[in-house]
Amino acid sequence: MRAFTYERVHTPSEAAAAVARNPGARFLAGGTNLLDLMKLEIDTPTHLIDVNGLELDGIESTPEGGLKIGALVRNTALATDDRVRRDYALLSRSVLAGASTQLRNRATTAGNLVQRTRCPYFYDTNQACNKRAPGSGCSALHGFSHQHAIIGSSDACIATFPSDMAVSLRVFDATVETVRPNGTTRVIPIADFHKLPGNTPHIDNVLDHGELITSVTLPKPIGGKQFYRKVRDRASYAFALISVGAVIQPDGTGRVALGGVAHKPWRVDAAEQHLPSGAKPVTERLLAGANPTHENEFKIALVQRTLAGVLADAKKG
Ligand code: SF4
Repeated sequence: MRAFTYERVHTPSEAAAAVARNPGARFLAGGTNLLDLMKLEIDTPTHLIDVNGLELDGIESTPEGGLKIGALVRNTALATDDRVRRDYALLSRSVLAGASTQLRNRATTAGNLVQRTRCPYFYDTNQACNKRAPGSGCSALHGFSHQHAIIGSSDACIATFPSDMAVSLRVFDATVETVRPNGTTRVIPIADFHKLPGNTPHIDNVLDHGELITSVTLPKPIGGKQFYRKVRDRASYAFALISVGAVIQPDGTGRVALGGVAHKPWRVDAAEQHLPSGAKPVTERLLAGANPTHENEFKIALVQRTLAGVLADAKKG
């Protein structure tokens, strides 16, 4: 690990301004991904701004009937909150499907949204990787791509975004609130927060340097039966091959988003109109234009079968 300097701050605006002043600065919250990146010298910040002292660790009801989740709410606190478990069970289940207890106790809501891909070539500095070193190439394109994206990818990068939590936030149409270095704030729909790789795969999301996530807001509850099905190579402590987050209403309508298939949580509104007709027409529309590799084309059938299981369980009493 390379040497760095360290600073504590007292307000979100102060944090944003402190990072903006220094191109080599990063926010430090739970550190569950950043410290690994630093140890491997994939990310080499020269200055860390510790935001753990900010008052961003509460979950509050909103006037609209939703919930505002502070950026520093730990994953365990989020998943076990009584209001989340009652009204947003999908969110609770998706968070509990991720990582391990130790990591969830430390990892934060905001950190979960800005974690980096787990593509193995990204973590191997001996391999070409456009996300880590722009212009160097993509080792996964002709390498081991079992875990990689099947839709929304590019010739520059076929990585997936690893968050389980983000899949449920996409189902609920959450928003991400931020403060910028000049003190202004903005609200970003979760659908627009993560970017597809295109020819700039080193840019994961729309945040500017120094822009700090302050909260994530859930609209009012939508009821329905809520499911998070994560399919992975081993039963725990593994990232999704694919995951299905779904809310199914009594009349068979609903919402569905996928994890493990793209560079962002994957949801296609038009596909959801076909939920009452079954998993096949929904999957065909969700994954229209899919471009899998020969190693991960199995994911298309896996999505359809997993969604079929969800829809069958939704029909049970
Ligand atoms: Fe790097 Fe993306 Fe290729 Fe993985 S898929 S090696 S992250 S460019």
